[in-house]
Formats: sequence, C-alpha cells, structure tokens
Amino acid sequence: MRYPNIFLSIIWLLGCFSAHAQSPTSTPADPVVMVIHGGAGTITPQQLTPAVRDSIEAALTRALRAGYAMIQAHRPAVDAVQAAIHVMEDSPLFNAGKGSVYTKAGTHEMDAAIMDGTTLKAGAVAAVSHIRNPIDAAIAVMNHSPHVLLVGKGAEDFAAANSVKLVPANYFDTPQRKQQWERYKRAHSQNGSSAWHAYYTHHEWGTVGAVALDEQGHLAAGTSTGGIMGKLPGRVGDSPIIGAGTYANDSTCAVSCTGTGEYFMRSLAAKTLSDLIAFRHKSLSEAAHMVIFDIIQRMGGDGGLIALNNKGEYAMPFNTSGMYRGYITRSGKIYLAIFQETSKPEF
Ligand code: ASP
Repeated sequence: MRYPNIFLSIIWLLGCFSAHAQSPTSTPADPVVMVIHGGAGTITPQQLTPAVRDSIEAALTRALRAGYAMIQAHRPAVDAVQAAIHVMEDSPLFNAGKGSVYTKAGTHEMDAAIMDGTTLKAGAVAAVSHIRNPIDAAIAVMNHSPHVLLVGKGAEDFAAANSVKLVPANYFDTPQRKQQWERYKRAHSQNGSSAWHAYYTHHEWGTVGAVALDEQGHLAAGTSTGGIMGKLPGRVGDSPIIGAGTYANDSTCAVSCTGTGEYFMRSLAAKTLSDLIAFRHKSLSEAAHMVIFDIIQRMGGDGGLIALNNKGEYAMPFNTSGMYRGYITRSGKIYLAIFQETSKPEF
C-alpha cells in the first residue's frame, strides 16, 4: 500500500514542478509597458514598398511614444491606450478612424472598445460613421453610462453629448481605401460570392490595438477598427465585443486581437486567453499561442493578438503572413516588427 502513495506523491511533485515551470516566475529586468498592433493580414514583404514600410514604422513609433508619455506622466493605463490608439486612428495608414475600410455599400462603419483591468469596467461602440476617434466614444461609454456597448446613431448621439468629436462621414475616405474598394467591387462583379469570401478571409489589415501597464501596475486594453472590407452594413466584429477582441484583467493580462473577427467572437478569444492563465495556470505566452494556433487556426480563422501582464511580460502571436506590431519598455526601448522576423530595435 505504501508504494502507490509514494508513487502518487512523486507524480504530484512533478505536476507542481511543471506547473511552476509554465508560470511566469520573475519580473523582466526592463519590463514592457505597452504593446501595440496595427492589424494582421496577408500582405507579403514584396508587396510592402520601403516607403510604406517606413511610414508604418514611423506611425507605430509615434503611437508607442504617445502611450509611453502617459505612463511616464503617471497617468492610468487607460490613458496610455487611448493616446496610442488616437495616433493610429488619425493616421490614414490604418484601418481605424481615418483610413477605415468600406462596407459593401461604400460606407464606413467603425467599432472600438476599451477595458480597464483594475475595475473590469468596459465601454464600446459599434457601427458608428461620424465619430472621429471611436476609442474616445468607447471610453465615454465606460465612464459616463451604465452600459458597455452602444451602437449606430445612439452611440453617436451619446458621444456628441459627452463632448466627443463628430465629423462628416466623408472625413474617413482615403484614396488608398477607395482603390481597394474599387478592386473589391470589380472582383465581386466578376467572381461573385467567391471573391467576396476571398476578400473577407484574406482581408486588408490595419485594425489597431494597444495594451498598457501603468506605474501602479494596472492594465488596460483597447481596440479600434473599420472592420473588414466589403462587410455587410450593420456587421459588428470582435473588436468591440468584450472578451472576444478586447479584454483586460490585472490578475491575468490585457489583450487586443486582430483578424477575421467572426472566429474571435465564436471562440471568445481574448477572455479565453485570460481564462487559460487564471484557471489552467498557463504562462502568458503559452496561453496566447494556444488561442491563435490551437483555437483560431483550428477553426479555420486567421489573425493575431497582443497581450501584456502586470509583470511586463508580453506575447504577440499571429498566423497570418504578418502583423504590424511593436512595444516599448519601461526604460523607453522600442521594438517594431511586421513579418516573422525581428526588425529595427531602437534605443
Ligand atoms: N477583427 C476585425 C474585425 O473583424 C478586423 C481586423 O482585425 O482586421 O472587425
């Protein structure tokens, strides 16, 4: 009878040891305080000209610096996320705010969300067409309403009543997106729904997201997007759905996702990542990898995510050919990358 007990004790000890080995154990020497993404997609290095690449890297750097300035000013993580997302929403290079893609009807409908990892409060807007910075409206919903998600005209009226800037719908038009839309329409008229499906699953990238860790050790996550080129008017993606494309909880991590939103919605990807850490005791990078490769990819979906915990550990997995991404450390070191390779660490 004694041998089985000893045997079970050894197994238990081994289990503890391996569970311990999977969990983050020490704080990085120079923790990451903010991670951002500018979308995941199917573009190849050959399609990206050096000039476009330079301007994308410059915009990502500006976004990281804007968020970092908030953290250095001892502001909460939500403010850092807002500042970084503002920069990307205002840049026509990304599919968020100015530069948003077109719906099938030739309009723009944007979604955005914010979540505070300390209070677990969240706010989001969806299918809005006149809010210059949808992330501001999401924050207004979180701070000034009893609700989590407002859509369409109701969201715009609420935003205006809370001093969030509204603009005419044509503010969001850009020549690049217009050309993509023309290409989409031509392909659709020639090949019908198969072309639409191809556009839909191999979408143009550019959704933006940010996760931040402030000086008090609190986390926040935010995501903003124009959705997917050629989407049906009224379609809402994962970005404004708390737990799907956006989630934050100080005790686990902050997450922002990008990719074909329907897969992230059906798997509640961001909350699943958090749950893998909370209940399965996975490390941040293991949990992030599982969500993209064992869940999203197995369902047939494509995309990526950024995640950060309160130790300053981060993950940025994706299963597309690239994802615009970058981070900044507590000491101000910036790292940027687009494809699988690492590029241009800047100090
Ligand atoms: N996830 C976004 C959506 O489905 C699109 C993207 O990330 O590119 O609306």
